[in-house]
Amino acid sequence: MSDCLFCKIAAGEIPSTCLYEDENVFAFRDINPQAPVHFLVIPKTHIGSVAELNAENSAVVSKCFEVIAKVAEQEGLTGGYRVISNCGADAGQTVHHLHFHVLGGAKMGEKIL
Ligand code: AMP
Ligand code: ZN
Repeated sequence: MSDCLFCKIAAGEIPSTCLYEDENVFAFRDINPQAPVHFLVIPKTHIGSVAELNAENSAVVSKCFEVIAKVAEQEGLTGGYRVISNCGADAGQTVHHLHFHVLGGAKMGEKIL
């Protein structure tokens, strides 16, 4: 998608702090961290949100989760971490390219989940 911020980040057209990259998945630090460690994991292919997943495109989600586990270990999140994907307006999704927030490095509050 030509006008998508995260497509551009995955393509290297907009700079980011990359933590991991392969042919399908890109992981980078969130620009506005909400925890001591806060990174995003995205498929390189454009999928708008969880709501757009289907039998044809969902295999990349398991690849994203493999990267989540790998980068979390790389980042030293031995105490655990939280994985969040905001989907749609009510959830406050601001970038309409599927992404998984990974938050850790501190004890999480219990308010959201
Ligand atoms: P969401 O609100 O779930 O759509 O999350 C979008 C996330 O993208 C927010 O946490 C932003 O801080 C983050 N973000 C926006 N622009 C950038 C950027 N250029 N580099 C890294 N993270 C970004
Ligand atoms: Zn995109």
